[in-house]
Amino acid sequence: MSYLGKSHGDYECDRCGACCIHLAVQVFPPDESREGLISLYVIEADDGSKWLGYPEQYSCNMLQNDGSCQIYNTKPDCCSLFEAGSPLCQWARGKAGLGALHPKIT
Ligand code: SF4
Ligand code: SF4
Repeated sequence: MSYLGKSHGDYECDRCGACCIHLAVQVFPPDESREGLISLYVIEADDGSKWLGYPEQYSCNMLQNDGSCQIYNTKPDCCSLFEAGSPLCQWARGKAGLGALHPKIT
């Protein structure tokens, strides 16, 4: 969910992609309305909820081989709201075997 490339407070996302691989990416109707590709790639669970990525099962379907997001400018709200340097960002980095994201030096 990046996420990817944004700055939040003292932290600047380094586009590691760990959040897009290791965190759940749930989408809602406004996300599908904004970006048509989401409806093509989304996976619907038995309870009707819709996901682009689901931990331990599959990474986000919009994550490209070069680590970029195929729908960066129209990504789901959960991605736009995600904060680099947050506990979930750091957790995903750890899960990916990466070191913690450190605050920017100003
Ligand atoms: S939609 Fe884009 S930013 Fe969001 S999790 Fe997928 S690849 Fe990452
Ligand atoms: S895990 Fe954190 S640093 Fe890595 S892409 Fe996501 S927001 Fe950026």
